[in-house]
Amino acid sequence: MDPLPNSPAKLPKLFSPTAIVAAVVAAMSIFVLGLLIWKATEARTTALAQGERDIRNLTHSLAEHASHSVQAIDVAMGAMVDLLKYQKPRVDRFNAALRKTADALPQIGEIGVIDPDGNRIYSSAAELPAHNNADRSYFIGHRDSADASLHISEPLQSRLTGRPTIVLSRRITREDGSFGGVLFATIESRYFDNFYQAFKFGPHAGITLLRLDGTVLAHWPTGKWNKEVSSAFKATIEQGRTGYTKTTSPFDGHIKFLGFERASQYPIVVTVALPETQVLAAWHEDLRNDLLVAVMLMGSVILFAVLLGKEFAKRAMVGRMLREREARYRLLADNIADVVILLDRDGRFLFVSQSVESMLGRKPDDLIGKPCFEFVHPDHLADVARATAELTNWTITKTVEFKTLRADGSEVWVEINFKLAGAAEDHQAIEVVGVLRDVTERRKMEDELNALNIRLSELATTDGLTGLANRRSFDVALPREFRDRERISLIMLDIDHFKGFNDSQGHQAGDECLRRVAQVIADATDKTTALAARYGGEEFAIILPDVSEQDALKVAEAIRLTVRSLAIANPAARRGVISVSVGIAGRTPAITEESELLRRADLALYEAKHAGRDCSVLASSRPGDNHSAGRKQYA
Ligand code: GH3
Ligand code: MG
Ligand code: MG
Repeated sequence: MDPLPNSPAKLPKLFSPTAIVAAVVAAMSIFVLGLLIWKATEARTTALAQGERDIRNLTHSLAEHASHSVQAIDVAMGAMVDLLKYQKPRVDRFNAALRKTADALPQIGEIGVIDPDGNRIYSSAAELPAHNNADRSYFIGHRDSADASLHISEPLQSRLTGRPTIVLSRRITREDGSFGGVLFATIESRYFDNFYQAFKFGPHAGITLLRLDGTVLAHWPTGKWNKEVSSAFKATIEQGRTGYTKTTSPFDGHIKFLGFERASQYPIVVTVALPETQVLAAWHEDLRNDLLVAVMLMGSVILFAVLLGKEFAKRAMVGRMLREREARYRLLADNIADVVILLDRDGRFLFVSQSVESMLGRKPDDLIGKPCFEFVHPDHLADVARATAELTNWTITKTVEFKTLRADGSEVWVEINFKLAGAAEDHQAIEVVGVLRDVTERRKMEDELNALNIRLSELATTDGLTGLANRRSFDVALPREFRDRERISLIMLDIDHFKGFNDSQGHQAGDECLRRVAQVIADATDKTTALAARYGGEEFAIILPDVSEQDALKVAEAIRLTVRSLAIANPAARRGVISVSVGIAGRTPAITEESELLRRADLALYEAKHAGRDCSVLASSRPGDNHSAGRKQYA
C-alpha cells in the first residue's frame, strides 16, 4: 500500500488521453499517407522512365522493320532499273523474275513496270492489269523529274485490289536520258497492319508509319489514312532522328506518350504512342494495392485507437473516482480536530493529517518518515512501547496518554487510540493507524479535581481553626490505633479559664490563643507517629502509638511548659497567663477498649483541673484508680 501523500499532489497538467490517441492516429495517418505519396511518386517516375524505355525500344524496332521492308524492295528495284535502262526484256521472262521477287518479299503486293504512257508492260500479277496509271501522282513525279531515288507514295486505293496501298517507285531513265517509264512495287497497308497487330497493346495505343512530310502511310489500329499530323509534330520529327514526347493524338484526341524514330535511309518515320493510363497501368495497379493496404492499416490503427481511447477513458474514470474518494477521506482527516496518523512497521509516520498543525504546531511533512517515538516524552516511552507491543491482532485497540512537545516547546498531553491497519486478508501489512487527541485541558481539569478532592478530604479530617486533626479523624484513628498497638498512650489537654480569657480578651483573641496552643501541640508531635487532634472547644487530644504513659507524660509536660512560656496574658488565670491542664492515660493489660483509655485520660484531666490546673496528671496515679499506687500530679 502506498502512503497517502500529505498534501494534494500537484500533478502536471496532462493532455487528455483522447487527445493523445487522436494525435498518435493523426501522426500515423500523416506518416502512412506521406509514405504512400512518396512511394507512389517514386514508382510513377520509375514507371514513366520504364514506359519511355519501352516505347523507344519498340519505336526503334519498328523503324528498323519499316526501313528493312522498304530497303529489300529498293535493292531489288535498283538492279531492275539498271537492266531496263539498256534492255527491253522479254515479257514472260521478266514477269517471271518479278513474280519471283514478289514471292521472296512478302511485303510486296505487286511489282511491275509502267511505260511512259502510263500502261503496264510488266507485272508480277497473274494477269497484266489493263488500267492506265498515267494520272497517278508518283507517275507524274517521275515523268517530270530526273530524280532516280526511290519514291514512296501516300496511301492510294489500288486499282487492282481496291485496298489501300503504298507504292514504292523509281524512274526508268533510258540511255539517252529520256523518260522510260516507272518501276513500282506496292505494299498493302494491311502488311504493316498485320505486323503491328502482333504487338498486344491496349486500346488507344497507336503505331503510325509516316512519311517525313507528315503523310500517314499506315496507322494501327484505327486504319484511318486521311489524317494529317500537326505541323508542330512535323517540325518535331524533322528535327531529330529519334524523339520522345507527350502529345495529344490526332487520331483519337487522347494524351499520349509518343516515341518516334526515322528510318536511316528513307524519309519515313515510325511513331509509337501509348496513352498515359497504359504506361502507368501497372503503377495504378500498385497504387491501388498500396492504397488498400494503407486503408487496412489505418483501419486497424483507428480500431486500435478507439479501443485504447476507451481503455484510457475507463482508467481516467477510475482515477477520478479514486481521487474523489481520497479527497473525501482527506476532508475528513483534515477537518476533524483529532489527528489521524499512519505508521509503518518501524513506527515511522507514513501519513499525518493536516490537523496536526493546529494541535502541535507542526507541519505533516515535517513528521513524515520520522519515528513516532521521537515525539513521546521519555517518561511515557515505556507506556507507549508496551501498548504497541500488545497490538497482536487486528481487533485490538489500545489507548495511551502521553506528553509531547509542541513546536514552540510547550508541553501537551495527548491521548492516542491505535490499532493495526490494513486489509484483513493482507497479513503482511503491519501498519498502525492511530487517532491523536489533545487531552491537555482534560488532564488539567482532572488535576484540579484531584487537588480539590485532596483538599476536601483534608477539610474533612482537619480542624479549620487550628490545622490539627479534627474530632472525626480522632474518632476514626483511636479505635484503629488501639486495635493495632499493644502500647499506646492518650493525652487529653484543656486550656485553663478560657471562658474568662474569651470574655476579657474577646473571641478573636480566643481563636488566636487556640491557634498558638495548637501550634505548640503540633510542634511537639510533629515528625512522630502521634496524632494530635482538636477534641472540641479549647480541649485537645493526642494519640501516641508505641509510647508509654511515662513518655507520654514527658510530651505532655513539654507542651504544658511551652504553653505557659508563651506568656499569653489571661487575667482569669491564677498565674495571669494562659496555661493548660493535662490528663494522661497509657494502655494497660486491663484496658480492653479504646473508650476505657479515653475515659481514664479524661478523668486524669478532670483530676488535673481539680488539683488547681496548669498541671499534668497520670491516670495511673489518680486516687481510686485501680491500676495505680497513689495520686500523682505534675506541675
Ligand atoms: P476551666 O479552667 O475549668 O476549663 O474553665 P473554662 O473557662 O476554660 O471552661 P469552660 O468549659 O467553662 O469554658 C470553655 C470556654 O471556651 C467556653 C467558650 O466560650 C470557650 N470556647 C470554646 N470554643 C471556643 C472557640 O472556638 N473560640 C473561642 N474564642 N472560645 C471558645
Ligand atoms: Mg473545656
Ligand atoms: Mg478550659
